[in-house]
Amino acid sequence: MDHTMKALVYQGNGELALEDRAIPVIQESTDAIVRVTYASICSSDLHIKHGTVARAKENIILGHEFVGEVVAVGKDVNHFQSGDRVSVNVETFCGDCFFCKRGFVNNCVQGGWELGCRIDGCQAEYVRVPLADQGMTRIPESVSDEAALFNGDILATGYWAASIGEIHPADTVVVLGAGPTGLCTMMCVQLYSPAQVIVVDTNADRLSLAKEKGLADVCINPNQTDVTEEVLRLTEGRGADRVFEVAGGNDTFQTAWKVARPNAIVVLVALYGQTQELPLHLMYGKNLTFKTGGVDANASEEIMRLVQCGKIDTSCLITHRAPLNDVLEGYYVFENQLDGCMKWVITPYVREKRQK
Ligand SMILES: [Zn+2]
Ligand SMILES: [Zn+2]
Repeated sequence: MDHTMKALVYQGNGELALEDRAIPVIQESTDAIVRVTYASICSSDLHIKHGTVARAKENIILGHEFVGEVVAVGKDVNHFQSGDRVSVNVETFCGDCFFCKRGFVNNCVQGGWELGCRIDGCQAEYVRVPLADQGMTRIPESVSDEAALFNGDILATGYWAASIGEIHPADTVVVLGAGPTGLCTMMCVQLYSPAQVIVVDTNADRLSLAKEKGLADVCINPNQTDVTEEVLRLTEGRGADRVFEVAGGNDTFQTAWKVARPNAIVVLVALYGQTQELPLHLMYGKNLTFKTGGVDANASEEIMRLVQCGKIDTSCLITHRAPLNDVLEGYYVFENQLDGCMKWVITPYVREKRQK
């Protein structure tokens, strides 16, 4: 029997390659092995590729957003068995330490963002999921694998961001960035009944999608309109009640605090590639509250229920699907936002030779 599988490996120095790797096996009694049915490429994978994730290790298999079927469990995994369909959490956490008990699973003393960063991830045929009872969520029969694909990462991020944003009904909310995580953030912001959601992005297609799907009321393209002036105009000169910075661009942090009204909450969801300047002397008197990332992915059961009952539907994010064979092309298309790419979904590796 063949014990190898295909996997996309971060070799360091910006290099990625599709390699043959050993199929993972149970190492700890709390592990599960999952056969990946769908995985995605995430902008955090690009951050690792470009060397801006300090905790990332070289020669690991990339990927941290996926769903699949459990094929083996360690003897101390109590809630899952072979055959279960599961979505897997981006964060590995124990559920028992100081941080976990308070819901801050990103800072679990036994984990945090491990999969596809410090240990082998999901852009492969199989994955070893440590602390599987905490890190996996059963997919109900009425939910397809694809519908649950984003639950563990970008949707968890949007859900976490909206929840720490302390949105009140009838608030004006600005979301900077209409990429996949920005759209997930808007989906979750809408759960709190804001009066208006204003979305800012330079990509006209992404803005239209946000509007079309009812996720945003007003679209602003900073290449055409002064964002701060426009937000002030839309809020009787006050600024937004809540701001979500999901863009991570060169000047988007500055926009985030400028469009916020005094006493607003500004949630910084983005993972920045560079140092940001906090000009406290300019914002004196605004009395802002900043909340910084990353996601505490601690609400996977709630998110699964929202997907199941149809209050959240991420299907509009999927623009491309291709087998693991084509993952390098996927990185190229996703990174350069070619062909309208929003989310590139990786389907299982196809072994027989395919006709091109
Ligand atoms: Zn991610
Ligand atoms: Zn913990």
